[in-house]
Amino acid sequence: MSGDSTVNFNLLHRTCKLVVLLCLLHISVTVVFYVRSLDIRFAFVQNQQSRNNVTQLTRLRNTGFTSRAEPEKDGPAEVQQTEEPRHQPEAEQPVKKLEKCPETSPLLVGPLRVEFNTQVNLEQIKKDNPNLRPGGRYKPKDCEALQKVAIIIPFRNRDEHLKYWLYYLHPILQRQQLDYGVYVINQDGDEIFNRAKLLNVGYMEALKEYDYECFVFSDVDLIPMDDRNTYRCFSQPRHLSVSMDKFGFRLPYNQYFGGVSSMSKEQYLKINGFPNNYWGWGGEDDDIYNRLASKGMSISRPNSELGKCRMIRHERDKQNEPNPQRFDRIAHTRETMYKDGIKSLSYRVVKVDKFDLFTKITVDVGKP
Ligand code: BGC
Repeated sequence: MSGDSTVNFNLLHRTCKLVVLLCLLHISVTVVFYVRSLDIRFAFVQNQQSRNNVTQLTRLRNTGFTSRAEPEKDGPAEVQQTEEPRHQPEAEQPVKKLEKCPETSPLLVGPLRVEFNTQVNLEQIKKDNPNLRPGGRYKPKDCEALQKVAIIIPFRNRDEHLKYWLYYLHPILQRQQLDYGVYVINQDGDEIFNRAKLLNVGYMEALKEYDYECFVFSDVDLIPMDDRNTYRCFSQPRHLSVSMDKFGFRLPYNQYFGGVSSMSKEQYLKINGFPNNYWGWGGEDDDIYNRLASKGMSISRPNSELGKCRMIRHERDKQNEPNPQRFDRIAHTRETMYKDGIKSLSYRVVKVDKFDLFTKITVDVGKP
């Protein structure tokens, strides 16, 4: 009898222990999942809340007004245009000088969650970014931005990608405290695509509007995953998309200069801008790299953590097949770069649309 009760007691004791252990396991798993979901939600909220941060935090530091400079008048290229200059130079206003924004913006939040499963719409993006001026322009209210940056996006038929770009980038650029404008350079017609020529057009057209000193050249389908990767210029030309998901978050090769890059006006002019005769996919970014290298410039890059970015997956566009001439052209950059560049650029502006979130310039860039 007593032997039986000891066995029963032992069994009961073990069962209870097991139940308690299972409960503890359950609680820890729940806690871990809860904390992780908080983390994700927090990152997402940070990304959405930029406008509040921008206005609130900077308001604490400074107040006042700022001036706008005259746009550049003596562009280096002879441009064929059918239109009258469309922009009135921005008028000088009486100004109270603002303090310069700090070297590192206090509004940055670091790593960001970037995904393309949720639909985004332009109206909502507009509401989320109430401080933008027409044409996708912005400058901090409470301090003077360190750089005036034109963001140039070569484009054709990628409206869905552009929405994601605007959704993610406007809040980031505002947190970076830049004085910026977004220029979408849309290739008119169905001829074969010419990315580098569209970038040259963007440079010219942006300068007609404002005295930008820095140019960021970005593909429409690339989104940075960390807002500390500042879209500005550095003492050397900058490659910003150094760690793309498409390439397993690493550089495909050391000379790679595609995706997103930035150059000051001076750096850009030193290499006579970009080539105009790379029609179709590939090679133009290698040509730009060769130009920079031939002028003794080196490439500045963020580290591979800060430089992470996501590409929106897509099929290859029609009329953007790989350019079979690219290898031959890249081999001769040093001879061709003085003849082919911003100085020999010619194009025709077909239409300019000043939308709330960006300026769209439709251009005829001709054909091969
Ligand atoms: C092309 C570049 C391209 C790179 C990465 C190279 O072969 O010439 O234009 O950016 O591959 O895809």
